[in-house]
Amino acid sequence: MNNSVNSIQVSPIAAFSDNYIWCIHDSQRCWVVDPGDANAVISYCQSNHLELVGILVTHHHWDHTGGIAELVAMNENLPVFGPKHSKIENLTEKFEDGDTVFLRPFGLSYSVLEVPGHTLDHIAYYGNGCLFCGDTLFSAGCGRLFEGTPEQMHHSLQKLMQLPDETIVYCTHEYTKANVTFAKQVEPDNKQLTNYANWVCEQRKAGKITLPSSIKQEKAINPFLRAQQDGIKRNAEKYVGKPLPNADAVFATIRSWKDNF
Ligand code: ZN
Ligand code: FE
Repeated sequence: MNNSVNSIQVSPIAAFSDNYIWCIHDSQRCWVVDPGDANAVISYCQSNHLELVGILVTHHHWDHTGGIAELVAMNENLPVFGPKHSKIENLTEKFEDGDTVFLRPFGLSYSVLEVPGHTLDHIAYYGNGCLFCGDTLFSAGCGRLFEGTPEQMHHSLQKLMQLPDETIVYCTHEYTKANVTFAKQVEPDNKQLTNYANWVCEQRKAGKITLPSSIKQEKAINPFLRAQQDGIKRNAEKYVGKPLPNADAVFATIRSWKDNF
């Protein structure tokens, strides 16, 4: 909602060293996505005169959930929505693939997509031209595989690639600079990637955010989304020193290449 739906906007709240807690708000009220740090949310709300009216959660990691208990303690009626197949505490409603969440009083709804890979409980929220994808998709990268298999993550990312090109992608971490550095190793001849990497460097030098991204942008520059492409396959095979039978194997190879980069 860079473009505004009923004057709703999405703004980043910086937390820890590289997290963004996305804040979906009008001029008075807000929902936050993955509030790892309650204090960051509380002070943002105070300085922007916003009342917190709900929480969305994508997965169980502490940097996405650590602030929930404190925020709920301040308002026991706060809706806290998260994944059904999870042990996250303080959730008031749990959702699975294909469900719809309603953000009151905004009149906004989002579809829930199960995207296992980074964790097994991971979900994403899609609606109103926006995708809140937690630690599944990053700009020029993707989440580490803490719980799922490479096949699961590859499938989850392909699911996100089915969304319309113009979808705005709200990732949770400012990892873009390290991601483009690695992506250039995998795809040294990708001109769009080189241009993007230059822009990312300028943004970070100026202390500016590199997010949100878009599905269209990620399709062009993110190697984890194009494991079926010849050039990427060739470089993955060169790295691992053997032929790779399919796109899942290419994906698994570049994921572990990045882990050791
Ligand atoms: Zn995580
Ligand atoms: Fe995280």
